[in-house]
Amino acid sequence: MMLRVGCHLSSAGGFLKMGKTAAKIGANTFQFFTRNPRGSRAREIDPEDVRKYLEFAGEHGIGQLLAHAPYTLNAASSDEHVREFARETMADDLKRMEYLPGSMYNFHPGSHTGQGAETGIKKIAEILNEILRPEQSTRVLLETMAGKGSEVGRSFEELRAILDRVELQEHMGVCLDTCHVFDGGYDIVEDLDGVLEEFDAVIGLDRLCAVHMNDSKNPLGSHKDRHEKLGMGQIGEEALARFLNHPKIKGLPVYLETPNELDGYAKEIAFLKRARQMQEATGSN
Ligand code: FE
Ligand code: FE
Ligand code: ZN
Repeated sequence: MMLRVGCHLSSAGGFLKMGKTAAKIGANTFQFFTRNPRGSRAREIDPEDVRKYLEFAGEHGIGQLLAHAPYTLNAASSDEHVREFARETMADDLKRMEYLPGSMYNFHPGSHTGQGAETGIKKIAEILNEILRPEQSTRVLLETMAGKGSEVGRSFEELRAILDRVELQEHMGVCLDTCHVFDGGYDIVEDLDGVLEEFDAVIGLDRLCAVHMNDSKNPLGSHKDRHEKLGMGQIGEEALARFLNHPKIKGLPVYLETPNELDGYAKEIAFLKRARQMQEATGSN
């Protein structure tokens, strides 16, 4: 099965620039922030840039993209102004995403800031119900979180509870971040099968649409959310390669968010491709 793999790229130069960078580092997809990660104004979409990008992507086999919402949005906040900003930003992002039909849009569910996870869950689902449109072609992904502070989405149960409250569930999915789940206490090193079985039982693997592939600076269950380069952290190359090639993960697009410059990303992409080829050659996990 062809590996769809890429990394997070700066969107400062537009889509064609990102496409060219992706091709240069051996990627066939990429992730990008829809706007400044701290959540300010979005740059105007240039339809000509998008058209040129799509042509380039077609020629170079670059496929389905993953957009990432600014991580400062908080749909679960106790402050209604903060929630209004999240609502407006996400609605605007989703409108703009239709320039690239069939893409995915990942966001951090939010932090309940002391109100309790249950209230946070309700508030997040409420905003999703306000912004999702039946006709949209973008799938909105909840990211699995490390459980830093009062983050909602630290367990599969919390993500399930959000999904359960969303009306247009066909537009929803989940993005699994290997650093976050490990940091959140799911042992993908010693018990990968068990973790994926639990994901399937609680959320359903049919909801899993993308993977953030990161090593973790901190040990299992630290709830700190510090990404590390592949093989330099507590998860390790072997466990990450096993994750990549697990039969339940194999068909999913994989995005690196490791602390790297482009040459570091190129090496990690090459590593993941090699790991996949080796697995295909030996037919084992
Ligand atoms: Fe994220
Ligand atoms: Fe992530
Ligand atoms: Zn993270």
